[in-house]
Amino acid sequence: MTATQGNQAPIVIIGSGLSGYSLARELRKRDRDLPLMMITADDGASYSKPMLSTGFTKAKTADELAQAEAGAMAEQLNMELRTHTRVTGIDPEAHEVLIGDERLAYGKLVLAWGADVIRLPEAVSGCDRVCSINDLEDYRHFRTLVEGHRRVILLGAGLIGCEYANDLRNGGYEVTVVAPSTQVMPGLLPEPAADAVRQALEAEGVRFHLGVAAESVSEENGQARVQLSDGAMLQGDVVVSAVGLRPRTELAAAGGLKVGHGIRTDRWLATSAPDIYALGDCAEVEGHVLMYVMPLMAGARALAATLTGEPTPVKWGAMPVMVKTPCCPTAVCPPAQSSDGHWDVQREGNSVKALYRDARGGLLGFAVTGDHVIEKQALSKEVPPVLAPAPEVAG
Ligand SMILES: Cc1cc2nc3c(=O)[nH]c(=O)nc-3n(C[C@H](O)[C@H](O)[C@H](O)COP(=O)(O)OP(=O)(O)OC[C@H]3O[C@@H](n4cnc5c(N)ncnc54)[C@H](O)[C@@H]3O)c2cc1C
Repeated sequence: MTATQGNQAPIVIIGSGLSGYSLARELRKRDRDLPLMMITADDGASYSKPMLSTGFTKAKTADELAQAEAGAMAEQLNMELRTHTRVTGIDPEAHEVLIGDERLAYGKLVLAWGADVIRLPEAVSGCDRVCSINDLEDYRHFRTLVEGHRRVILLGAGLIGCEYANDLRNGGYEVTVVAPSTQVMPGLLPEPAADAVRQALEAEGVRFHLGVAAESVSEENGQARVQLSDGAMLQGDVVVSAVGLRPRTELAAAGGLKVGHGIRTDRWLATSAPDIYALGDCAEVEGHVLMYVMPLMAGARALAATLTGEPTPVKWGAMPVMVKTPCCPTAVCPPAQSSDGHWDVQREGNSVKALYRDARGGLLGFAVTGDHVIEKQALSKEVPPVLAPAPEVAG
């Protein structure tokens, strides 16, 4: 049965990333015939986004990272899938999605449209040799740009910047990282753990310019020239901007939904508009924006239950994040922003065990690198959940 067969307006999922497909799979485990439609701006290929930052280490091209094409996914999930179709608005009152002039009715709507890359000012991002990598299409473009070249300049020393640095070194590229922060992964790792990762990357040959910003990028004779705020000039072949992601909220806000840093939802992933839910990188669940795979998988399971008549709140335990820097394996479970505590740090070379404890000694978060990474599971059990079970079940 296709999505529009019968009289029932379908569940419409916007986005074919890990969130959209995880939800579709979870729904199909519960109901083979529920009318289901997915709309996506891209080609609908199913892929695992975390693999984008291990492409050179694992020697995978963009085509090899795609696990299944849209047609195969639509058939497997018994749903209508509209690819290369950008949703341009939502009309919660009419229960319709807008695609240009077209209006499409939904029974329930799930916004799983992810996050946008933060774009640096035009003086930096306007140059053709600058790119960012946030989906398979971007990755394909990057692989084309870098083909036959050796020097990559990475702007940003966050988790993704560090992962790309390690991956590109493994692929044989000369890598220079530029970031205004004075440590790598600021806000995610305490300084000693960040220091261990940076030193390990340096030992692999990655060069760092920390505490400086890229002011402009220009192209001369096929090369990128990056002007830094300290007066230095770097030359490279390709510049990758990896300065962060921001949940896509504009269309939701324009449709009258409440947004904060992401699209605001309760624990049932329900937005402020009836029958509209948000999942994955675009969602802010009770104040938490967690742009990682584990939270969206747990969200997809709970939401599939809710949408098939069994209201189920999301439960998020402690969810450690593995940083894919094989030169210095790292796992981190950041303490909640509001938590009050202090870091206890042990360090030997690149092996760091940093424990964030409250005044009574309770563990609120941790970061482990090198030999201490194996302790990640045990430590996670001691850390309080991100979202404890809900006190009562809503309808
Ligand atoms: C390089 C990299 C490495 C990562 N590594 C890890 C890791 O190791 N572990 C981890 O837990 N997390 C990792 N993450 C984060 C993780 O990959 C994301 O949290 C997750 O993939 C987000 O999935 P999503 O479906 O919510 O969003 P997306 O994958 O961004 O999907 C959004 C979808 O919405 C579609 N869309 C957007 N706007 C519209 C519109 N207006 N109309 C129609 N369709 C639209 C897009 O085409 C796309 O199909 C990594 C992220 C990156 C970028």
